[in-house]
Amino acid sequence: MHSHPHYSRSAINELSRTHPLLHPLMALEPVSWFNPERQPLERALTGVALTADDVADAAARLGRFASYFRAVFPDTRALNGILESPLQAIPAMQQALNERLNSKLAGTLLLKRDDLLPVSGSIKARGGIYEVLHHAEKLALKAGLLHLTDDYARLDSDEFRNFFGRYSVAVGSTGNLGLSIGIISARLGFKVSVHMSADAREWKKALLRSHGVTVVEYQSDYSVAVAEGRAEALNDPYCHFVDDENSVQLFLGYAVAGLRLKAQLEQQSIRVDREHPLFVYLPCGVGGGPGGVAFGLKLAFGDAVHCVFAEPTHSPCMLLGVYTGLHDAISVQDLGIDNCTAADGLAVGRPSGFVGRVMAPLLDGFYTLPDEEMMSLLSLLAKQENIYLEPSALAGMPGPWRVEGEEQGYRERMGLTPARLARAHHLVWATGGGMVPEEEMAKYLNTSCKP
Ligand SMILES: *Cc1c(COP(=O)(O)O)cnc(C)c1O
Repeated sequence: MHSHPHYSRSAINELSRTHPLLHPLMALEPVSWFNPERQPLERALTGVALTADDVADAAARLGRFASYFRAVFPDTRALNGILESPLQAIPAMQQALNERLNSKLAGTLLLKRDDLLPVSGSIKARGGIYEVLHHAEKLALKAGLLHLTDDYARLDSDEFRNFFGRYSVAVGSTGNLGLSIGIISARLGFKVSVHMSADAREWKKALLRSHGVTVVEYQSDYSVAVAEGRAEALNDPYCHFVDDENSVQLFLGYAVAGLRLKAQLEQQSIRVDREHPLFVYLPCGVGGGPGGVAFGLKLAFGDAVHCVFAEPTHSPCMLLGVYTGLHDAISVQDLGIDNCTAADGLAVGRPSGFVGRVMAPLLDGFYTLPDEEMMSLLSLLAKQENIYLEPSALAGMPGPWRVEGEEQGYRERMGLTPARLARAHHLVWATGGGMVPEEEMAKYLNTSCKP
């Protein structure tokens, strides 16, 4: 386990002299920052150990498991056992936001509906489930119980459940990762424990317990829950710990989204190239989900895709890590920021160092937004499009207007002329909400100011 330095007040004062954005960040003001270090793809990938082959390998593995999913999760049959989500335009929302912001956004607003992903209703159904499948396959192949050419529907049997029952899986999670890891691990037959921080919702704990998952609760924040889970696994060779902060497998599972989205856009006759730029806005917590997806998108679309991360004003950990270049050596708490947000999944004070280092030269920018804005966007989307998301999933929604309004020379630097922007697609990644119970959703809708 690694320990992290703490920054004294004078060290932070020193740092903010060379990094003036820290002032509004500490004042919890919404900020936008466009990355001056963004590199062309080729150059950005030098020194990155992960390749397109690794992502293709992950996609092939998910393909092998498709027959298992068809057998065990009926709602995956429509897409032949592949866990993927719809992509749709949201013109009424685009118009309503243009009116609200007194603007006229050029281009088309799209929504990627990861709230509708089967099994766990959030983006975590990509990386989280993938990592468990990767682990299960490795164990079964090694034991000689399974062959790559088998029909994986075989895994839905007492023989395999008994085999996996000799092993356990552990994860530290604020919620959605726990749901994904917990549900798929329990189904396969693993013993599984989810270590949860104090801010985790009761309904998520109850849901997990109903699947036979052991929920361990902590009266502290997410990083403590993760540390405890990791410590438990270290002492047990039969236990696999899903390390949200450093996992390459999680990252690759998310990255598969890149080529899938490419096929989906082609199906809808949407072009992406230098003349037809694609902007993608991703809510960011520890970074694995948005980082993996953005990595896959870069491999799929090259420099024609522009990825922007969105974080709560109270938890801007990835912006802080990349902007200062300190990555996981600095936390928002070091700046006196409290990491308190209603956006489950984004309440992370220290970013993944692994993701920050890989993605720093690939990302176009970052912005922060207050909880009240996520809540008000949640209501507006429900009203305009009849789509119900969890608060985190709205973080990407203001992104297109942040790009449109920026005055840091970013659009000029990227060659994003008005003509190109008029042909742009702005894709907001809706990362979750599919599992939120109705009475919880009613509370979300009530806390927001009326649109
Ligand atoms: C986990 C999560 C995110 C962010 O993913 P990270 O890997 O933590 O950065 C965003 N939205 C929702 C709904 C999530 O559950």
